[in-house]
Formats: sequence, C-alpha cells, structure tokens
Amino acid sequence: MIDLHTHTWFSDGTTTPEENAVLAVAAGLTGLALTDHDTTDGWERMAAACAAHGLLFVPGIELSAELDGASVHVLGYGVDPGDADFAAECSRLRGERDRRARVMTERLAALGLPVTWAMVQAHAGDAPVGRPHLGAALVEAGVVDDLDAAFDRWLGEDGPVHEPKRALHPVDAVALIGAAGGVAVLAHPGATFGEPGAAEELLDAMVEAGLAGLEADHPAHDAALTAAWRSAARRRGVLVTGSSDFHGGRKPVRIGERATPVPVVDALGESTRGGTRW
Ligand code: AMP
Ligand code: ZN
Ligand code: FE
Ligand code: FE
Repeated sequence: MIDLHTHTWFSDGTTTPEENAVLAVAAGLTGLALTDHDTTDGWERMAAACAAHGLLFVPGIELSAELDGASVHVLGYGVDPGDADFAAECSRLRGERDRRARVMTERLAALGLPVTWAMVQAHAGDAPVGRPHLGAALVEAGVVDDLDAAFDRWLGEDGPVHEPKRALHPVDAVALIGAAGGVAVLAHPGATFGEPGAAEELLDAMVEAGLAGLEADHPAHDAALTAAWRSAARRRGVLVTGSSDFHGGRKPVRIGERATPVPVVDALGESTRGGTRW
C-alpha cells in the first residue's frame, strides 16, 4: 500500500522528508507520495529518502485551486516541475499566499491580537506560507490553545480575518497538471464539498478535463462520505485513492492511516504523459 498524500516542512507539515520515509516504513507501506502545497521543492530529498529505505516514491503536489472564493485542492502526480506554465502558477501561488497571509496577519493585529508578520514568517521558514503557520503564531502568542481552535475561531473560511487565495478554477487546475505531463486527483472531496451531489457538474467538468481519481478514502471523511465518494468515482469511471494527508504534529493523523493499493498507483502512473512506472 502507498500513502498518496503527505506533507513536510517544505509546506505546512512539521516533519522532514527523511522522517516521513521512516514513518512510512514503520507503517508497513511500500511507497509514499510527497504532496506539499504549491511546491515541488521537497522532491529531491524525498526521492533520496525513499530510495534509502526501499520505498517507491511518487512525486506529487497539492495545487491550490479556487471556486468562488472557496479553496479546492487538486493533487498532481508526475508533473514536470520544469513545465513553464506549471512553474509559473506555483510561483504565482506562493506570492499570493504571501499576500494573503500578510493581510490576515494585519487583520489579527488590528483586532488587538499579539501576532506579527515576523512570527508567522518564523513558522513558515522558506515554505509557501499557509494558515497553519498563522495558527502556529496564534498558539505561540497564547491566543488559542491549539491549531484547531485557531481555525475554528480565527482562520476558517467563515472566520473574522479570512482572506481567500486567488487561484485557478478547479477545471483549469486539472488541465494545467495534465499539460505539465501529470495526472490529477481531487483531494479530500468530502471535506471540500460534503456529499458528491453538491458538486455533480463541477465533477463532470473536471473528469472531462482529465481528472483521473477521487481521494475518497481520507481521514476527514466518515464511513458514509467515503462510501458516497467511492461510488461517485465508480459512476464516472475514475480511480479511488486513499491517503493520510499527514502534516506531522499539525494534525492527529499517522502516515499510512489511509493508503492506496499498488495497482491503483500503477494505473495513475500509466495516465501520466510518460506512462510512468514510478
Ligand atoms: P491554506 O492552504 O493556507 O488555505 O491552509 C489550508 C491548510 O490548513 C490545509 O493543509 C489544511 O489541512 C489545514 N487545516 C485546515 N483546517 C485545519 C484545522 N482545523 N486544524 C489544522 N489544520 C487545518
Ligand atoms: Zn496543509
Ligand atoms: Fe488539502
Ligand atoms: Fe494536504
């Protein structure tokens, strides 16, 4: 089994690629994808760590897309990071993340909370800045006890300081991944849309644009949502993937808590432009 969605400190996780590889071996996995937000910077180290442990490495990204101000995450596997359009969008998104995090930090400060841009930056380091870094600053400042409370009270999409990221329409994100030679899977669809019925037309358009799979099996989905998204995938003839969406200490999930069978990962590889054997 292969965990197809994990993060490191190259975006908003708290672990290194080497630590993820060790955890994957301990979980009994045979392979691991790295899918940091809007960056492929961790690939080289993750590939080396997987090779050192005899794990299959699936290079991935969790690309930010947007639908009417709401965030939609599209996983891209096997993209060519040197593709000019793809690289330009990743770079634009990192700038957009920076803008949006500064705006949200200013709003928090204007509400009298003792957080500064320097604190947020210290948590993000060189990574594309995300709301978990803002949340870490809120915890550090003693405003909230934990990250969940930071999202519930301040950072959520309905929260008092939220600023959306301007990003591609999900259909265009799928097309961009395909044009860069990769294969797209919709991340945690139940967490994003609830029941599949809430997104029928969008799903049809994404499949039309080349979407190859739905991440039906995800820790944020209960049994009913998982079943509903599995059958949504079956109806459309696309693959079902399973992943932990591991974020190190930032979420209470373990690597390998959900995972994908090897034949499904092979089918994803065959759908890339190069027909990749990972
Ligand atoms: P952003 O990409 O900046 O919009 O932040 C989204 C990230 O925040 C995703 O990786 C989510 O996994 C994470 N996230 C969303 N809600 C929560 C929460 N309640 N607790 C911890 N992390 C969260
Ligand atoms: Zn994240
Ligand atoms: Fe996500
Ligand atoms: Fe994720």
